[in-house]
Amino acid sequence: MKRIAIIGGGISGLSAAYSIEEKRRSGTPVEYVLFESRLRLGGVLLTEEVDGCLVEAGADSFLTEKPWAAELCAKLGLADQLIGSNDAQRKTYILAKNKLVAMPDGLMFMVPTKIMPAIRSPLFSAKTKIRMAAEWFHPPRESSADETVAQFVERHYGREMVEMLADPLLSGVYGGQASELSLRAVLPRFADMEAKQGSLGRGMAFARKQAAAISSTTPPPAPRPLFTTLKGGMQQLISVLVASLDPGSIKTSVTVELLARELDRWTVSAGYHSDQFDGVILATPTYEAGLVLQGTDEALSRELREIQYSSSLTVALAYNDSVRRALPPGFGFLVPRSEGRRVLAATFVHNKFPHRAPADRALIRCFLGGSRDEPILQKGEHEVVKIVRDELEQILGPSLRAEPLFTRVYKWRSAMAQYSVGHLERIRRIEELRLKHPGLALAGNGYSGIGVPDCVRSGAEAASTILAAMGMWSAA
Ligand SMILES: Cc1cc2nc3c(=O)[nH]c(=O)nc-3n(C[C@H](O)[C@H](O)[C@H](O)COP(=O)(O)OP(=O)(O)OC[C@H]3O[C@@H](n4cnc5c(N)ncnc54)[C@H](O)[C@@H]3O)c2cc1C
Repeated sequence: MKRIAIIGGGISGLSAAYSIEEKRRSGTPVEYVLFESRLRLGGVLLTEEVDGCLVEAGADSFLTEKPWAAELCAKLGLADQLIGSNDAQRKTYILAKNKLVAMPDGLMFMVPTKIMPAIRSPLFSAKTKIRMAAEWFHPPRESSADETVAQFVERHYGREMVEMLADPLLSGVYGGQASELSLRAVLPRFADMEAKQGSLGRGMAFARKQAAAISSTTPPPAPRPLFTTLKGGMQQLISVLVASLDPGSIKTSVTVELLARELDRWTVSAGYHSDQFDGVILATPTYEAGLVLQGTDEALSRELREIQYSSSLTVALAYNDSVRRALPPGFGFLVPRSEGRRVLAATFVHNKFPHRAPADRALIRCFLGGSRDEPILQKGEHEVVKIVRDELEQILGPSLRAEPLFTRVYKWRSAMAQYSVGHLERIRRIEELRLKHPGLALAGNGYSGIGVPDCVRSGAEAASTILAAMGMWSAA
Protein backbone atom coordinates (compact mmCIF):
# COMPACT_ATOMS: atom_id res chain seq x y z
CA MET A 1 0.00 0.00 0.00
CA LYS A 2 1.44 3.37 -1.04
CA ARG A 3 0.80 6.37 1.20
CA ILE A 4 0.47 9.99 0.04
CA ALA A 5 0.41 13.08 2.26
CA ILE A 6 -1.56 16.10 1.04
CA ILE A 7 -0.70 19.31 2.85
CA GLY A 8 -3.34 22.04 2.64
CA GLY A 9 -7.11 21.59 2.61
CA GLY A 10 -8.14 24.42 0.29
CA ILE A 11 -9.75 23.61 -3.05
CA SER A 12 -6.35 22.61 -4.53
CA GLY A 13 -5.59 20.05 -1.82
CA LEU A 14 -9.18 18.76 -1.77
CA SER A 15 -9.12 18.33 -5.55
CA ALA A 16 -5.89 16.29 -5.22
CA ALA A 17 -7.49 14.19 -2.47
CA TYR A 18 -10.53 13.57 -4.65
CA SER A 19 -8.38 12.24 -7.52
CA ILE A 20 -6.57 9.86 -5.16
CA GLU A 21 -9.84 8.83 -3.50
CA GLU A 22 -11.22 7.90 -6.94
CA LYS A 23 -8.19 5.67 -7.53
CA ARG A 24 -8.44 4.16 -4.05
CA ARG A 25 -12.10 3.32 -4.58
CA SER A 26 -11.32 1.67 -7.89
CA GLY A 27 -8.96 -0.70 -6.11
CA THR A 28 -5.57 0.99 -6.57
CA PRO A 29 -3.48 0.14 -3.48
CA VAL A 30 -3.06 3.73 -2.29
CA GLU A 31 -4.13 5.72 0.75
CA TYR A 32 -3.75 9.36 1.70
CA VAL A 33 -3.77 11.72 4.66
CA LEU A 34 -4.79 15.35 4.14
CA PHE A 35 -3.36 17.80 6.69
CA GLU A 36 -5.07 21.17 7.15
CA SER A 37 -3.88 23.69 9.71
CA ARG A 38 -7.30 25.25 10.25
CA LEU A 39 -10.31 23.58 11.83
CA ARG A 40 -12.26 24.25 8.64
CA LEU A 41 -11.58 22.84 5.19
CA GLY A 42 -11.99 24.89 2.01
CA GLY A 43 -9.37 27.63 2.46
CA VAL A 44 -10.55 30.71 0.62
CA LEU A 45 -13.93 29.16 -0.23
CA LEU A 46 -16.51 29.84 2.47
CA THR A 47 -20.21 30.72 2.24
CA GLU A 48 -22.37 31.82 5.16
CA GLU A 49 -26.12 32.06 5.29
CA VAL A 50 -27.06 35.26 7.07
CA ASP A 51 -30.63 36.42 7.48
CA GLY A 52 -31.85 34.86 4.22
CA CYS A 53 -28.78 35.95 2.21
CA LEU A 54 -25.96 33.75 0.93
CA VAL A 55 -22.77 35.61 1.72
CA GLU A 56 -19.56 34.59 -0.02
CA ALA A 57 -16.55 35.29 2.16
CA GLY A 58 -13.95 34.56 -0.52
CA ALA A 59 -14.44 33.48 -4.14
CA ASP A 60 -18.05 33.98 -5.23
CA SER A 61 -18.01 32.13 -8.59
CA PHE A 62 -15.65 30.95 -11.30
CA LEU A 63 -15.11 31.70 -14.97
CA THR A 64 -17.36 29.45 -17.06
CA GLU A 65 -14.85 29.18 -19.90
CA LYS A 66 -12.39 27.30 -17.66
CA PRO A 67 -13.99 23.85 -17.38
CA TRP A 68 -12.24 22.13 -14.47
CA ALA A 69 -14.37 23.31 -11.53
CA ALA A 70 -17.65 22.58 -13.34
CA GLU A 71 -16.30 19.16 -14.35
CA LEU A 72 -15.48 18.37 -10.73
CA CYS A 73 -18.97 19.52 -9.70
CA ALA A 74 -20.46 17.17 -12.32
CA LYS A 75 -18.41 14.23 -11.00
CA LEU A 76 -19.69 15.04 -7.51
CA GLY A 77 -23.31 14.94 -8.71
CA LEU A 78 -23.65 18.72 -8.50
CA ALA A 79 -24.29 19.44 -12.21
CA ASP A 80 -27.89 20.46 -11.51
CA GLN A 81 -26.70 22.81 -8.77
CA LEU A 82 -24.60 24.94 -11.13
CA ILE A 83 -26.03 28.31 -12.01
CA GLY A 84 -24.79 31.12 -14.20
CA SER A 85 -24.44 34.82 -13.52
CA ASN A 86 -27.46 36.88 -14.52
CA ASP A 87 -25.77 38.24 -17.65
CA ALA A 88 -28.90 40.09 -18.81
CA GLN A 89 -27.98 42.49 -16.00
CA ARG A 90 -24.27 42.49 -16.80
CA LYS A 91 -23.09 46.03 -16.70
CA THR A 92 -20.03 47.19 -14.84
CA TYR A 93 -19.19 50.75 -13.93
CA ILE A 94 -15.90 52.51 -13.47
CA LEU A 95 -15.70 55.28 -10.92
CA ALA A 96 -14.41 58.33 -12.76
CA LYS A 97 -14.23 61.66 -10.89
CA ASN A 98 -16.62 60.17 -8.33
CA LYS A 99 -19.24 59.32 -10.97
CA LEU A 100 -20.14 55.81 -12.05
CA VAL A 101 -19.58 55.50 -15.79
CA ALA A 102 -20.68 52.29 -17.53
CA MET A 103 -17.92 50.35 -19.27
CA PRO A 104 -18.64 50.65 -22.99
CA ASP A 105 -20.30 47.75 -24.76
CA GLY A 106 -17.92 45.38 -26.55
CA LEU A 107 -14.96 45.87 -24.22
CA MET A 108 -13.15 42.56 -23.73
CA PHE A 109 -10.94 43.03 -20.70
CA MET A 110 -9.58 46.34 -21.93
CA VAL A 111 -9.76 45.68 -25.67
CA PRO A 112 -12.48 47.62 -27.48
CA THR A 113 -14.04 45.22 -29.98
CA LYS A 114 -16.83 47.64 -30.93
CA ILE A 115 -15.44 50.99 -31.86
CA MET A 116 -18.57 53.21 -31.68
CA PRO A 117 -19.51 52.52 -28.03
CA ALA A 118 -15.87 53.14 -27.05
CA ILE A 119 -15.75 56.41 -29.04
CA ARG A 120 -19.00 57.61 -27.45
CA SER A 121 -17.97 56.63 -23.90
CA PRO A 122 -17.24 59.54 -21.55
CA LEU A 123 -14.75 57.25 -19.82
CA PHE A 124 -11.90 58.08 -22.18
CA SER A 125 -10.29 61.31 -23.32
CA ALA A 126 -10.10 62.22 -27.03
CA LYS A 127 -6.40 61.28 -26.96
CA THR A 128 -7.18 57.71 -25.79
CA LYS A 129 -9.94 57.40 -28.39
CA ILE A 130 -7.45 58.32 -31.12
CA ARG A 131 -5.04 55.71 -29.67
CA MET A 132 -7.84 53.11 -29.81
CA ALA A 133 -8.36 53.79 -33.51
CA ALA A 134 -4.61 53.84 -34.20
CA GLU A 135 -4.17 50.55 -32.31
CA TRP A 136 -5.88 48.80 -35.19
CA PHE A 137 -2.65 49.37 -37.18
CA HIS A 138 -0.28 48.18 -34.44
CA PRO A 139 2.37 46.04 -36.21
CA PRO A 140 3.06 42.46 -35.07
CA ARG A 141 5.80 42.32 -32.46
CA GLU A 142 7.68 39.10 -31.68
CA SER A 143 9.35 39.09 -28.31
CA SER A 144 9.94 36.41 -25.75
CA ALA A 145 10.84 38.92 -23.04
CA ASP A 146 8.34 39.41 -20.26
CA GLU A 147 7.02 42.83 -19.27
CA THR A 148 4.39 44.26 -16.96
CA VAL A 149 0.75 44.41 -18.02
CA ALA A 150 0.98 48.20 -17.62
CA GLN A 151 3.87 48.47 -20.12
CA PHE A 152 1.99 46.34 -22.62
CA VAL A 153 -1.34 48.16 -22.32
CA GLU A 154 0.37 51.53 -22.43
CA ARG A 155 2.14 50.56 -25.66
CA HIS A 156 -1.21 49.72 -27.25
CA TYR A 157 -3.64 52.25 -25.79
CA GLY A 158 -1.76 54.76 -23.66
CA ARG A 159 -1.51 55.48 -19.96
CA GLU A 160 -5.18 56.33 -19.40
CA MET A 161 -6.25 52.81 -20.37
CA VAL A 162 -3.88 51.40 -17.73
CA GLU A 163 -5.27 53.66 -15.04
CA MET A 164 -8.96 53.47 -15.93
CA LEU A 165 -9.27 49.80 -16.90
CA ALA A 166 -6.27 47.48 -16.71
CA ASP A 167 -5.27 48.40 -13.17
CA PRO A 168 -8.76 48.27 -11.60
CA LEU A 169 -9.55 45.02 -13.42
CA LEU A 170 -6.36 43.39 -12.18
CA SER A 171 -6.77 44.62 -8.64
CA GLY A 172 -10.25 43.03 -8.67
CA VAL A 173 -8.91 39.63 -9.81
CA TYR A 174 -5.37 39.44 -8.37
CA GLY A 175 -5.37 42.11 -5.70
CA GLY A 176 -2.35 43.26 -7.71
CA GLN A 177 -1.11 46.12 -9.83
CA ALA A 178 -0.76 46.37 -13.60
CA SER A 179 2.67 47.90 -13.01
CA GLU A 180 3.91 44.69 -11.36
CA LEU A 181 1.99 41.77 -12.83
CA SER A 182 3.53 39.75 -15.66
CA LEU A 183 1.92 39.97 -19.08
CA ARG A 184 3.00 36.45 -20.01
CA ALA A 185 1.69 34.87 -16.82
CA VAL A 186 -1.53 36.87 -16.49
CA LEU A 187 -2.56 37.62 -20.08
CA PRO A 188 -0.69 35.13 -22.29
CA ARG A 189 -3.39 35.34 -24.95
CA PHE A 190 -2.70 39.04 -25.45
CA ALA A 191 1.04 38.44 -25.81
CA ASP A 192 0.27 35.83 -28.44
CA MET A 193 -2.13 38.15 -30.28
CA GLU A 194 0.47 40.91 -30.40
CA ALA A 195 3.03 38.51 -31.88
CA LYS A 196 0.64 37.22 -34.55
CA GLN A 197 -1.69 40.11 -35.37
CA GLY A 198 -0.03 43.14 -33.83
CA SER A 199 -3.26 44.86 -32.93
CA LEU A 200 -5.35 43.46 -30.08
CA GLY A 201 -8.49 44.94 -31.64
CA ARG A 202 -7.77 43.12 -34.91
CA GLY A 203 -6.77 39.98 -32.99
CA MET A 204 -10.10 39.91 -31.18
CA ALA A 205 -11.99 40.60 -34.40
CA PHE A 206 -10.11 37.72 -36.07
CA ALA A 207 -10.94 35.37 -33.17
CA ARG A 208 -14.63 36.37 -33.41
CA LYS A 209 -14.61 35.76 -37.19
CA GLN A 210 -13.12 32.30 -36.71
CA ALA A 211 -15.75 31.46 -34.07
CA ALA A 212 -18.48 32.69 -36.45
CA ALA A 213 -17.06 30.54 -39.29
CA ILE A 214 -17.21 27.45 -37.07
CA SER A 215 -20.76 28.23 -35.93
CA SER A 216 -21.93 28.71 -39.55
CA THR A 217 -21.05 25.06 -40.21
CA THR A 218 -22.32 23.71 -36.89
CA PRO A 219 -25.32 24.98 -34.90
CA PRO A 220 -24.13 27.83 -32.64
CA PRO A 221 -23.85 26.79 -28.99
CA ALA A 222 -26.24 28.44 -26.53
CA PRO A 223 -24.57 31.53 -25.05
CA ARG A 224 -22.92 30.64 -21.76
CA PRO A 225 -22.89 32.87 -18.70
CA LEU A 226 -19.58 34.53 -17.92
CA PHE A 227 -19.50 33.26 -14.34
CA THR A 228 -20.72 30.01 -12.80
CA THR A 229 -21.46 29.26 -9.18
CA LEU A 230 -23.54 26.84 -7.11
CA LYS A 231 -27.05 27.31 -5.79
CA GLY A 232 -25.77 26.79 -2.26
CA GLY A 233 -22.72 28.98 -2.80
CA MET A 234 -19.10 27.89 -3.23
CA GLN A 235 -19.34 26.16 0.15
CA GLN A 236 -21.63 23.60 -1.45
CA LEU A 237 -18.71 22.40 -3.58
CA ILE A 238 -16.48 22.13 -0.51
CA SER A 239 -19.10 20.32 1.61
CA VAL A 240 -19.90 17.73 -1.05
CA LEU A 241 -16.22 17.31 -1.95
CA VAL A 242 -15.26 16.71 1.68
CA ALA A 243 -18.17 14.27 2.12
CA SER A 244 -16.85 12.25 -0.85
CA LEU A 245 -13.49 11.69 0.88
CA ASP A 246 -12.57 9.08 3.45
CA PRO A 247 -13.22 10.81 6.83
CA GLY A 248 -10.41 8.83 8.46
CA SER A 249 -7.95 10.35 5.97
CA ILE A 250 -8.48 13.97 6.99
CA LYS A 251 -6.62 15.70 9.80
CA THR A 252 -7.71 19.27 10.53
CA SER A 253 -6.09 21.68 13.00
CA VAL A 254 -2.72 20.15 12.15
CA THR A 255 0.01 22.41 10.80
CA VAL A 256 2.77 20.59 8.96
CA GLU A 257 6.08 22.17 9.92
CA LEU A 258 8.68 20.11 8.17
CA LEU A 259 9.24 17.61 5.40
CA ALA A 260 12.28 15.38 5.34
CA ARG A 261 13.21 13.03 2.54
CA GLU A 262 15.26 9.90 2.98
CA LEU A 263 15.67 7.89 -0.21
CA ASP A 264 12.08 7.30 -1.40
CA ARG A 265 10.35 7.99 1.91
CA TRP A 266 9.06 11.31 3.21
CA THR A 267 8.65 12.16 6.87
CA VAL A 268 5.92 14.70 7.54
CA SER A 269 6.28 16.43 10.91
CA ALA A 270 3.60 18.39 12.72
CA GLY A 271 4.22 19.32 16.35
CA TYR A 272 5.44 16.26 18.22
CA HIS A 273 4.00 13.90 15.63
CA SER A 274 5.57 12.57 12.49
CA ASP A 275 4.44 10.07 9.89
CA GLN A 276 5.99 8.39 6.86
CA PHE A 277 4.77 8.61 3.26
CA ASP A 278 5.81 7.52 -0.23
CA GLY A 279 4.74 10.81 -1.78
CA VAL A 280 3.78 14.35 -0.78
CA ILE A 281 1.51 16.91 -2.43
CA LEU A 282 2.14 20.42 -1.16
CA ALA A 283 -1.11 22.33 -1.75
CA THR A 284 -0.42 25.37 0.40
CA PRO A 285 0.50 28.91 -0.62
CA THR A 286 4.06 28.78 -2.03
CA TYR A 287 5.63 30.63 0.94
CA GLU A 288 4.37 27.84 3.24
CA ALA A 289 5.57 25.16 0.82
CA GLY A 290 8.97 26.90 0.83
CA LEU A 291 9.09 26.88 4.63
CA VAL A 292 8.35 23.18 5.05
CA LEU A 293 10.89 22.32 2.34
CA GLN A 294 13.69 24.38 3.89
CA GLY A 295 15.55 21.39 5.26
CA THR A 296 15.03 19.30 2.11
CA ASP A 297 15.99 21.55 -0.79
CA GLU A 298 17.21 25.06 -0.06
CA ALA A 299 17.14 26.23 -3.71
CA LEU A 300 13.57 25.04 -4.24
CA SER A 301 12.52 26.50 -0.92
CA ARG A 302 14.00 29.91 -1.87
CA GLU A 303 12.30 30.01 -5.26
CA LEU A 304 8.94 29.16 -3.65
CA ARG A 305 9.33 31.81 -0.97
CA GLU A 306 10.10 34.48 -3.56
CA ILE A 307 6.59 34.38 -5.04
CA GLN A 308 4.74 37.27 -3.45
CA TYR A 309 1.16 37.16 -2.14
CA SER A 310 -1.26 39.98 -1.45
CA SER A 311 -3.86 40.18 1.27
CA SER A 312 -7.44 41.24 0.83
CA LEU A 313 -10.61 41.85 2.66
CA THR A 314 -14.23 41.38 1.63
CA VAL A 315 -17.08 43.23 3.28
CA ALA A 316 -20.72 42.22 2.80
CA LEU A 317 -23.51 44.68 3.62
CA ALA A 318 -27.22 43.93 3.35
CA TYR A 319 -29.86 46.67 3.05
CA ASN A 320 -33.59 46.86 2.71
CA ASP A 321 -35.64 47.38 -0.43
CA SER A 322 -35.35 51.18 -0.53
CA VAL A 323 -31.58 50.90 -1.00
CA ARG A 324 -32.03 48.16 -3.59
CA ARG A 325 -34.32 50.41 -5.62
CA ALA A 326 -31.89 53.32 -5.38
CA LEU A 327 -28.90 51.34 -6.68
CA PRO A 328 -27.99 51.45 -10.38
CA PRO A 329 -28.62 48.31 -12.46
CA GLY A 330 -25.67 46.03 -13.16
CA PHE A 331 -23.09 43.85 -11.46
CA GLY A 332 -21.20 46.61 -9.64
CA PHE A 333 -18.24 48.91 -10.07
CA LEU A 334 -14.44 49.14 -10.11
CA VAL A 335 -12.42 51.97 -8.62
CA PRO A 336 -9.25 53.29 -10.31
CA ARG A 337 -6.42 54.26 -7.97
CA SER A 338 -6.66 57.93 -8.98
CA GLU A 339 -10.01 58.12 -7.16
CA GLY A 340 -8.16 57.78 -3.85
CA ARG A 341 -10.60 55.28 -2.33
CA ARG A 342 -9.97 52.18 -0.23
CA VAL A 343 -12.83 50.20 -1.79
CA LEU A 344 -11.32 48.61 -4.91
CA ALA A 345 -14.49 47.07 -6.27
CA ALA A 346 -18.09 46.43 -5.27
CA THR A 347 -20.52 43.78 -6.48
CA PHE A 348 -24.29 44.18 -6.41
CA VAL A 349 -24.77 40.54 -5.50
CA HIS A 350 -28.58 40.67 -5.76
CA ASN A 351 -28.16 41.49 -9.49
CA LYS A 352 -25.23 39.21 -10.32
CA PHE A 353 -26.71 36.15 -8.57
CA PRO A 354 -30.34 37.06 -7.74
CA HIS A 355 -31.03 33.94 -5.66
CA ARG A 356 -28.43 35.05 -3.10
CA ALA A 357 -30.65 37.72 -1.57
CA PRO A 358 -34.42 37.87 -1.00
CA ALA A 359 -36.24 40.05 -3.58
CA ASP A 360 -36.59 42.93 -1.10
CA ARG A 361 -32.93 43.07 -0.06
CA ALA A 362 -29.80 44.61 -1.49
CA LEU A 363 -26.60 42.66 -0.90
CA ILE A 364 -23.39 44.57 -1.67
CA ARG A 365 -19.98 42.96 -1.48
CA CYS A 366 -16.89 45.17 -1.41
CA PHE A 367 -13.30 44.19 -2.03
CA LEU A 368 -10.45 46.03 -0.27
CA GLY A 369 -6.74 45.59 0.37
CA GLY A 370 -4.56 44.17 -2.37
CA SER A 371 -0.86 44.85 -2.75
CA ARG A 372 -1.39 48.63 -2.48
CA ASP A 373 -3.29 48.64 0.79
CA GLU A 374 -1.98 45.94 3.13
CA PRO A 375 -2.45 48.30 6.18
CA ILE A 376 -6.25 47.94 5.92
CA LEU A 377 -5.82 44.37 7.20
CA GLN A 378 -4.66 45.82 10.55
CA LYS A 379 -7.89 47.70 11.12
CA GLY A 380 -10.68 46.36 13.31
CA GLU A 381 -13.97 45.26 11.75
CA HIS A 382 -15.86 48.27 13.09
CA GLU A 383 -13.43 50.70 11.47
CA VAL A 384 -13.45 48.77 8.17
CA VAL A 385 -17.26 48.86 8.04
CA LYS A 386 -17.20 52.60 8.72
CA ILE A 387 -14.72 53.20 5.87
CA VAL A 388 -16.81 51.12 3.48
CA ARG A 389 -20.11 52.75 4.47
CA ASP A 390 -18.67 56.26 4.10
CA GLU A 391 -17.25 55.48 0.67
CA LEU A 392 -20.42 53.75 -0.55
CA GLU A 393 -22.44 56.77 0.50
CA GLN A 394 -20.07 59.14 -1.33
CA ILE A 395 -20.16 56.97 -4.46
CA LEU A 396 -23.77 55.75 -4.54
CA GLY A 397 -25.57 58.62 -2.87
CA PRO A 398 -27.46 59.42 0.35
CA SER A 399 -29.67 56.31 0.25
CA LEU A 400 -26.58 54.42 1.41
CA ARG A 401 -26.73 56.39 4.67
CA ALA A 402 -29.28 53.76 5.74
CA GLU A 403 -28.27 51.40 8.51
CA PRO A 404 -27.29 48.02 7.01
CA LEU A 405 -29.39 45.03 8.09
CA PHE A 406 -26.15 43.21 8.72
CA THR A 407 -22.47 43.46 7.82
CA ARG A 408 -19.73 40.85 7.59
CA VAL A 409 -15.98 41.37 7.27
CA TYR A 410 -13.61 38.62 6.10
CA LYS A 411 -9.84 39.01 6.09
CA TRP A 412 -7.67 36.95 3.77
CA ARG A 413 -4.03 37.37 4.66
CA SER A 414 -1.46 36.55 1.97
CA ALA A 415 -4.01 34.52 0.01
CA MET A 416 -3.58 35.79 -3.56
CA ALA A 417 -0.42 34.93 -5.46
CA GLN A 418 1.10 37.78 -7.47
CA TYR A 419 2.48 36.65 -10.80
CA SER A 420 5.14 39.30 -11.18
CA VAL A 421 7.39 39.80 -14.23
CA GLY A 422 9.49 36.65 -14.73
CA HIS A 423 6.89 34.39 -13.07
CA LEU A 424 6.91 31.81 -15.89
CA GLU A 425 10.70 31.57 -15.73
CA ARG A 426 10.53 31.06 -11.97
CA ILE A 427 7.90 28.32 -12.42
CA ARG A 428 10.22 26.60 -14.92
CA ARG A 429 13.08 26.72 -12.37
CA ILE A 430 10.76 25.41 -9.64
CA GLU A 431 9.68 22.54 -11.87
CA GLU A 432 13.31 21.62 -12.67
CA LEU A 433 14.15 21.57 -8.96
CA ARG A 434 11.00 19.62 -8.09
CA LEU A 435 11.90 16.92 -10.62
CA LYS A 436 14.85 16.02 -8.37
CA HIS A 437 12.23 14.74 -5.90
CA PRO A 438 10.00 12.28 -7.79
CA GLY A 439 7.71 11.77 -4.81
CA LEU A 440 6.91 15.49 -4.54
CA ALA A 441 4.18 17.48 -6.31
CA LEU A 442 3.06 21.09 -5.97
CA ALA A 443 -0.45 22.49 -6.31
CA GLY A 444 -2.20 25.75 -5.54
CA ASN A 445 -2.80 29.24 -6.81
CA GLY A 446 0.88 30.21 -6.86
CA TYR A 447 1.82 28.42 -10.06
CA SER A 448 -0.32 28.50 -13.19
CA GLY A 449 -3.66 30.12 -12.50
CA ILE A 450 -5.19 31.84 -9.52
CA GLY A 451 -8.88 31.11 -10.12
CA VAL A 452 -10.84 28.22 -8.63
CA PRO A 453 -10.90 26.17 -11.89
CA ASP A 454 -7.11 26.39 -12.23
CA CYS A 455 -6.69 25.35 -8.58
CA VAL A 456 -8.95 22.32 -9.18
CA ARG A 457 -6.83 21.44 -12.21
CA SER A 458 -3.55 21.91 -10.35
CA GLY A 459 -4.71 19.59 -7.53
CA ALA A 460 -5.76 16.88 -9.98
CA GLU A 461 -2.49 17.23 -11.93
CA ALA A 462 -0.44 16.99 -8.73
CA ALA A 463 -2.27 13.78 -7.83
CA SER A 464 -1.62 12.29 -11.27
CA THR A 465 2.07 13.31 -11.06
CA ILE A 466 2.50 11.46 -7.76
CA LEU A 467 0.48 8.44 -8.83
CA ALA A 468 2.48 8.27 -12.08
CA ALA A 469 5.74 8.39 -10.09
CA MET A 470 4.42 5.34 -8.22
CA GLY A 471 3.44 3.62 -11.45
CA MET A 472 -0.25 3.96 -10.66
CA TRP A 473 -1.37 6.45 -13.35
CA SER A 474 -0.69 5.43 -16.90
CA ALA A 475 -2.30 8.55 -18.44
CA ALA A 476 -0.09 11.02 -16.54
C1 LIG B 1 -11.07 37.37 -1.47
C2 LIG B 1 -10.84 36.44 -2.62
C3 LIG B 1 -11.77 36.38 -3.65
C4 LIG B 1 -11.58 35.50 -4.72
N1 LIG B 1 -12.52 35.42 -5.68
C5 LIG B 1 -12.42 34.49 -6.66
C6 LIG B 1 -13.48 34.28 -7.56
O1 LIG B 1 -14.53 34.92 -7.48
N2 LIG B 1 -13.31 33.32 -8.52
C7 LIG B 1 -12.18 32.56 -8.61
O2 LIG B 1 -12.10 31.70 -9.50
N3 LIG B 1 -11.16 32.73 -7.74
C8 LIG B 1 -11.26 33.66 -6.76
N4 LIG B 1 -10.25 33.82 -5.85
C9 LIG B 1 -9.06 32.96 -5.97
C10 LIG B 1 -9.32 31.54 -5.48
O3 LIG B 1 -10.39 31.51 -4.59
C11 LIG B 1 -8.09 30.99 -4.77
O4 LIG B 1 -6.95 31.14 -5.59
C12 LIG B 1 -8.23 29.51 -4.42
O5 LIG B 1 -9.40 29.28 -3.69
C13 LIG B 1 -7.00 29.06 -3.66
O6 LIG B 1 -7.15 27.72 -3.29
P1 LIG B 1 -5.91 26.92 -2.69
O7 LIG B 1 -6.40 25.62 -2.21
O8 LIG B 1 -4.80 26.90 -3.66
O9 LIG B 1 -5.40 27.82 -1.47
P2 LIG B 1 -6.10 28.16 -0.10
O10 LIG B 1 -7.55 28.30 -0.24
O11 LIG B 1 -5.32 29.31 0.46
O12 LIG B 1 -5.84 26.87 0.78
C14 LIG B 1 -4.56 26.53 1.29
C15 LIG B 1 -4.80 25.79 2.60
O13 LIG B 1 -3.54 25.33 3.10
C16 LIG B 1 -3.58 25.42 4.50
N5 LIG B 1 -2.19 25.42 4.98
C17 LIG B 1 -1.24 26.37 4.77
N6 LIG B 1 -0.08 26.00 5.35
C18 LIG B 1 -0.29 24.78 5.93
C19 LIG B 1 0.54 23.88 6.66
N7 LIG B 1 1.83 24.16 6.92
N8 LIG B 1 -0.01 22.72 7.12
C20 LIG B 1 -1.31 22.42 6.88
N9 LIG B 1 -2.14 23.24 6.18
C21 LIG B 1 -1.63 24.41 5.71
C22 LIG B 1 -4.31 26.72 4.75
O14 LIG B 1 -4.84 26.78 6.06
C23 LIG B 1 -5.39 26.68 3.68
O15 LIG B 1 -6.60 26.13 4.14
C24 LIG B 1 -10.41 34.69 -4.77
C25 LIG B 1 -9.45 34.77 -3.75
C26 LIG B 1 -9.66 35.63 -2.68
C27 LIG B 1 -8.64 35.69 -1.57
